[in-house]
Amino acid sequence: MKVIYVDNNATTRVAPEVLEEMLPYFSEFYGNPSSMHTFGGMVEHKVAEARERVGRLLGASPEEIIFTSCGTESDSTAIRAAILSNPNKKHIVTSRVEHPAVKNLYEYLSKNGYRVTFVPVDRKGRLDLDYLYKSLDEDTAIVSIMWANNESGVIFPIEEIGGVLKEKGIVFHTDAVQAVGKIPMDLKNTSVDMLSLSGHKLHGPKGVGALYVRKGTKYSPFLIGGHQEKGRRGGTENVASIIGLGKASELAGANLSDENTRIKRLRDKLENEILKRVPNTMINGDRDNRLPNTTSIAFEYVEGESILLMMDEYGICASSGSACTSGSLEPSHVLRAMGVPFTAAHGSIRFSLSIYNTEKEIDFIIEKLPPIIERLRELSPFWKKAV
Ligand code: PLP
Repeated sequence: MKVIYVDNNATTRVAPEVLEEMLPYFSEFYGNPSSMHTFGGMVEHKVAEARERVGRLLGASPEEIIFTSCGTESDSTAIRAAILSNPNKKHIVTSRVEHPAVKNLYEYLSKNGYRVTFVPVDRKGRLDLDYLYKSLDEDTAIVSIMWANNESGVIFPIEEIGGVLKEKGIVFHTDAVQAVGKIPMDLKNTSVDMLSLSGHKLHGPKGVGALYVRKGTKYSPFLIGGHQEKGRRGGTENVASIIGLGKASELAGANLSDENTRIKRLRDKLENEILKRVPNTMINGDRDNRLPNTTSIAFEYVEGESILLMMDEYGICASSGSACTSGSLEPSHVLRAMGVPFTAAHGSIRFSLSIYNTEKEIDFIIEKLPPIIERLRELSPFWKKAV
């Protein structure tokens, strides 16, 4: 069966060009980049090239890039570095819609001596900036706000927040795992101190990420060990994956305009056609300010999991807005924070496209999805009561 993969915010296909550049570094060039010999030096040279490529995508210099094992490690490293560098400050700020990589660390810290502000969002998933700014005080060690949300795709005003925090001298970290490669970035012109990204969200391999640390930002390593990454992250480098991330960054830069024109048009076509064909359906999130590849569509009075299962029969891969916890289907913390009504949050499906999606695939989803919703609603006692 052909797979129609529209779950690219979960993970992406490794680009063939990326795989091709990685392969020799498993077999032929297996040296350690820290070795003194020429054989190791060849590998070191390629790691340096990857660092330059990641830096170029972000508008950063190569020395500001530290390779890590994933987006989660980058997030943890940044937040822990900020609080270790400011040991007397015990207030930390984030949003209510962060990925668990940030959210769960903040919750852990809240039980371990930190006062935490979780900034709310409105019904469209937009951050309450007043609330954020009013929460800041002398005791604030770090603000960590994601660049774009993984479920709704809503983009937060990172440049503006950075400006305010810079004036107050507060460290600013952004989890840009979903934003990098989808929207243009130039960190030279922002006041972001640290930024996280992850290889597998931009057609690179899994198990590799990077942390941008602006020159001059106080830093302490999370993984303490060898001198790798100039002592900023111990552990022998995951060479092939770092090279893959470098190539993926180069490709992402080259594909940015396709992402923001063709992919955006396909995403818009998908949601407009579904809204037109299926009653009691709405978009979760600010339609004017979103990632070009993402749409979260709420189908009232049906279970997201049932929609996923029925789409799966046609090979369509997407995600639901619920997490199956201890047998009960709880809507995600993101949709709850946005105040999406229970009946809509339960039937929310996230479609996230990539440069590999075609118009034919989108037409196929538009054809197959409306009858699926109709069939499920026929079985739903809630739907019968509602209409
Ligand atoms: N942050 C965001 C916004 C994400 O979407 C994800 C992954 O889904 C992560 C962090 C974690 O990245 P990784 O899977 O590389 O640890």
